[in-house]
Amino acid sequence: MKMVKWVALCCCLISCQVNEHGLIKQQYFIFGTVVDVLIWHNNPKEAETALLLVEQRLQNMHHQWHAWKPGRLSTINDALRSGEKVLLNNEELTFLLQTRALSKRSAHHFNPAMGELIHLWGFHTDEYPITEPPPDDQAIQALLENMPIMEDLIIEGSTMYSTNDNIWLDFGGIAKGYAIDAAIQILKAHGIHNAIVNAGGDLRSIGRKGRKDWKVAVRKPNSDEVLAVIEVDQDESIFTSGNYARYKTFDGQRYAHIIDPFTGHGVNQVVSATVIAEDGMLADAAATALIVAGTKNWQQIAKAMQLTQVLLLDAEGKCHATQKMMVRLQPTELQCSVTD
Ligand code: AMP
Ligand code: MG
Repeated sequence: MKMVKWVALCCCLISCQVNEHGLIKQQYFIFGTVVDVLIWHNNPKEAETALLLVEQRLQNMHHQWHAWKPGRLSTINDALRSGEKVLLNNEELTFLLQTRALSKRSAHHFNPAMGELIHLWGFHTDEYPITEPPPDDQAIQALLENMPIMEDLIIEGSTMYSTNDNIWLDFGGIAKGYAIDAAIQILKAHGIHNAIVNAGGDLRSIGRKGRKDWKVAVRKPNSDEVLAVIEVDQDESIFTSGNYARYKTFDGQRYAHIIDPFTGHGVNQVVSATVIAEDGMLADAAATALIVAGTKNWQQIAKAMQLTQVLLLDAEGKCHATQKMMVRLQPTELQCSVTD
């Protein structure tokens, strides 16, 4: 088994023939990544209408929920940090309640309330890698002493305020899942029941590709080599969090952009976490939570989040997986320590 070589997994769609009957492809550039939508449908006009709405929705979400650029989220953050109340619309309310519940289920390993810590590390940027020095320990400690969590948000009806004015909502760890779920919802509402929405390797599928299941390849990062192929079930999401793509590098050290809310430092024990679950929000939040939880705690957090299909690659080149994940990876050269 090659050790660190396969560093982490990401998923890519196996190439499809453009002219294949019934297959419609569309590509957008949103969330700093390419979003591919593949639809198997016999009415191109219907598909076109749905795809237009998907694009509008994704663009809108990108602006609304940006963690540090001006938009709805920065308005919400400013108000929460000044102790003011925020009036939420139904969609915002649903998203915030779901995100708060997922954070709680992850025992706050997935903590979207800690935007200030992410900001302190300099990860509110589009330019990678970052080369500035890491923040000093005192600044990190000061934040840890009063670390905000999602339960600091008090939601009464459609009004929300925070009991912790250090709160800074950053949905970078769940936004793709939210967006992909929303895209799938739009497709379904327009009579499209066979599709894949894939944002840079994180994806959700519905239905089938004609008479066959949709297939995705799990590949090695920075390589086109396929590690395993997964036949995706009728409605399923596959998300991977990795500490390898976005990072800070300074004085020969690397600092990952996924931060452990309990230590205030970037994760370095687990290189990647891949999760298969039904909905994108759960899979996205869980992949972030598990990479933070590390090799000792991942099973406990996976149970708490009711996950059955998980794969972790650690920094020593070892693989850890659930039995249900192993049977999905066919064929694979991975030799993992397997648990239920
Ligand atoms: P993902 O690729 O889904 O794991 O998301 C990574 C992004 O989530 C980072 O760029 C941060 O914006 C944010 N983030 C980093 N650490 C955490 C954490 N422990 N909990 C929640 N969000 C985080
Ligand atoms: Mg995530």
